[in-house]
Amino acid sequence: MNCSKGQKFSQGTLTRFGKTEMNPSSGILNYGQGLIEGLKAYRTRNERILLFRPEENAMRMQMGAERMCMSSPTIEQFVNAVKQIVHSNRRWVPPPGKGTMYIRPLLMGNGPDLGVAPASEYTFVTYASPVGNYHKVLGALNLVVEEKFRRATPGGTGGVKAITNYAIIYKPISEAKAKGFTDVLFLDAVTGKYVEEASTSNIFVVKENVISTPPTNGTILPGITRKSIIEIARVLGYQVEERAILVEELFDAEEVFCTGTAVVVNPVNSITYQDKRTEYKRGVGTVGQKLYEILTGIQSGCIEDEMGWTVELD
Ligand code: PMP
Repeated sequence: MNCSKGQKFSQGTLTRFGKTEMNPSSGILNYGQGLIEGLKAYRTRNERILLFRPEENAMRMQMGAERMCMSSPTIEQFVNAVKQIVHSNRRWVPPPGKGTMYIRPLLMGNGPDLGVAPASEYTFVTYASPVGNYHKVLGALNLVVEEKFRRATPGGTGGVKAITNYAIIYKPISEAKAKGFTDVLFLDAVTGKYVEEASTSNIFVVKENVISTPPTNGTILPGITRKSIIEIARVLGYQVEERAILVEELFDAEEVFCTGTAVVVNPVNSITYQDKRTEYKRGVGTVGQKLYEILTGIQSGCIEDEMGWTVELD
């Protein structure tokens, strides 16, 4: 789908996965004027195909487009593109328990422009691929608190899914992986005292049955899984606090888990900070496990969707 700056996107077309035509001087290639989204399609036991809250992804893209001075598809255009791509690849959605279909909407500045200014044309594409489970073993997350590199600064783009948020974290992630950790946990850029999020997931801390997660005040991506987990936890009667969490609080937390479309609800095994390693409860009977079961139950159609979150494909 294409449009000129400030205009509406035209009707899209379905094509085979392949190369996309780009202007070498496009905004995305030269200045990183691009936004992504990520969501999944799930096959249920009775062969229905469900999407999980796709309009939330559409709204997040619109929010990002506003920050990045981009034209964006309407919510309806976004959701229709997602439905169409899944529908036409329906047979590739893995069976329940074996994986899901990951869908990647991508919005890019794509005009024949030169200057450092919003692109004159925009392209919106959506592609999809079957994926297995992100971390094969639940609770295999061994995080390290990142002390040198920061992910997002106040007033920056950390709160939207700008493509430029990702390349800058390759270095801290690869350094952490080289030391045997699964992922990094970023701190706030101003004081370096507060926990923000992992590389592609939000973080939750449990202590004495109170669930806490950092507030999404511009430097943390407002995860759709995060939002859903907060809502499920409150329905279950848990007290959920969105508040600044000091890194020291990780040491006496009972449970820590990460949430995201890819990681779902994944209990953290350990967090290392300044060479001090703290291990957590995980698995059967934990708060994270309970929330995981309900969320995946809704997504896979095994639990009745009283929240009205799933969208069934025709
Ligand atoms: N934080 C970041 C930086 C992410 O890339 C993601 C993945 N989109 C998340 C959090 C989790 O967001 P969601 O639950 O919408 O997948």
